[in-house]
Amino acid sequence: MKIQVVKNILDANDRIADENRSLFNQKKIFVMNLMSSPGAGKTSLVERTIEALRDRYRIAVIEGDIQDTCDADRVAALGIPAVQINTGGGCHLDANMVREGMSGLDLDAIDLLIVENVGNLVCPAEFRVGEDVKIMILSTPEGADKPSKYPLIFQNSAVMLLNKIDLMPHLDFDRDKALRDARALNPDLTIFEVSCRTGAGLDGWFGWLSERVARVVGV
Ligand code: MG
Ligand code: ZN
Repeated sequence: MKIQVVKNILDANDRIADENRSLFNQKKIFVMNLMSSPGAGKTSLVERTIEALRDRYRIAVIEGDIQDTCDADRVAALGIPAVQINTGGGCHLDANMVREGMSGLDLDAIDLLIVENVGNLVCPAEFRVGEDVKIMILSTPEGADKPSKYPLIFQNSAVMLLNKIDLMPHLDFDRDKALRDARALNPDLTIFEVSCRTGAGLDGWFGWLSERVARVVGV
């Protein structure tokens, strides 16, 4: 039965996610699972976040991609520990892949672990990897219909970054609809309107994240 298979896969995943979770708790690591469509700006946000918070917190990154190492290379170029997970065609990271990625990191030397998921608005929202929060990016060129088409990712995220706001004058992006529909799906969703290219609006995000990390790390 197909439905039962999916349920069993998610149950097995949840068990490993719980194990990851307890290890992160024990090591006092704040973990964010970053999700978006391909090209929405995940790696650019990771780079900006590293630049802003690296003096305050020890940061590491697990990069999930179907293949290639270019995102991990971008992070490693900043001098930050980065592990690349290639899913070999798989369209999301699961808890077991993240567990394997963790084995390549010194967990005693990390305050903030950023897990950059595979670019996809569907199953990354279903699979827990042991994170504290799911964070999503919606970029303006994707259009304002994404909340109604992919509700789960909006429902499961703590924060939505609306990225590429600098492009809005050139697009027919219905900002009010996108924000209204996202909030209707998740009234607790915190929204920051940003441009990872220009840096606009990012201070609010850095402040939000920094406060969460501080609570876990205890500084
Ligand atoms: Mg990327
Ligand atoms: Zn998938």
